[in-house]
Amino acid sequence: MELARITTTTENGTMHCSACQWRCTLQPGDTGRCLVRVGSTEGITAENYGLISAALVAPIEDYRLWHFFPDSLVLAIGGWGYAFPVDQQRGTYAHIPMLEEKRRRLPPERVASFALERLCRGVVWAYGEPAVSHEYVLRLLQTSRAASRYTALVTTGYLTAEALDSFGPYLDGISLDLRGFGDTAYARLAGIPDWHGILGVMAWARQHWRCHIEVTTRLHHGVNDDPRELRSLVDWINASLGEQTPWHVLPGDAGAETAAAVVRARRIGHEGGLQFVYGSEPNQNTICPVCQAVLITRDNGLVSPVGISDGVCTNCGHKLYLRTSIFKR
Ligand code: SF4
Repeated sequence: MELARITTTTENGTMHCSACQWRCTLQPGDTGRCLVRVGSTEGITAENYGLISAALVAPIEDYRLWHFFPDSLVLAIGGWGYAFPVDQQRGTYAHIPMLEEKRRRLPPERVASFALERLCRGVVWAYGEPAVSHEYVLRLLQTSRAASRYTALVTTGYLTAEALDSFGPYLDGISLDLRGFGDTAYARLAGIPDWHGILGVMAWARQHWRCHIEVTTRLHHGVNDDPRELRSLVDWINASLGEQTPWHVLPGDAGAETAAAVVRARRIGHEGGLQFVYGSEPNQNTICPVCQAVLITRDNGLVSPVGISDGVCTNCGHKLYLRTSIFKR
């Protein structure tokens, strides 16, 4: 049994979990909103500890990290549990399998050695919200870093500042799944009442921990494609993460209206000053925003950093927002 770490207990035995922004209050026997943390007389237990939902080797680009160790293989790991109620209804990794034979166990200490054996330069937590697997993810980041692997998280950003600060010393990159920029969008697509905390925690990750961040937004027509909200989203990326932060704008569902919304959003991103705005079409190259030289080519899954040397454009010398070393932030 693994006890949750970032918790407090008051004198009357009430326990508080500070892994994600729900900040649940639990009594013995209560289950947190994530469905994977349970109050007990000894503390809050992490029922999902050591149980993985997925483990696969893939290009880092598959996780919408396109300016981060380009052309590298990563070991992608996932666990069980989401922080958002809508994800628990629709997502694949919400519920720990009931049957023991369906439960796959992998100690976090083994992940780094798997990555080394499979010639992966890094490890990414890619399936399920990392906050609700805080203890496992922390150990995974620590041991992967000790093995000189780069580390990254795919996250909704709904973790607390305390959880982020525990990850920060060992964390290189974040692929942020930003669902929109308005109350209605977050109520519909995440089921949470207040989403603003995500912005503060991600700004802290960038500004304090110097994490490399790329933002992905999946558009749903009539839900999160309001041009005014998207302009505010772009302004926030500019002000809090930086104009070189890649923004990946993808269709969240099929249909001509959503496709048109993606085109409009990408235009808003460019007009708002973002230097790297990507869509869903294949073979998108990365272009230098100053001299227009091709920096990274992407051709049917082949990624080649052709115009970059030591983090700058080889044609004009422009310094790029690109992470290629675990030693430089
Ligand atoms: S991880 Fe989040 S949802 Fe789960 S118990 Fe902790 S605060 Fe609640």
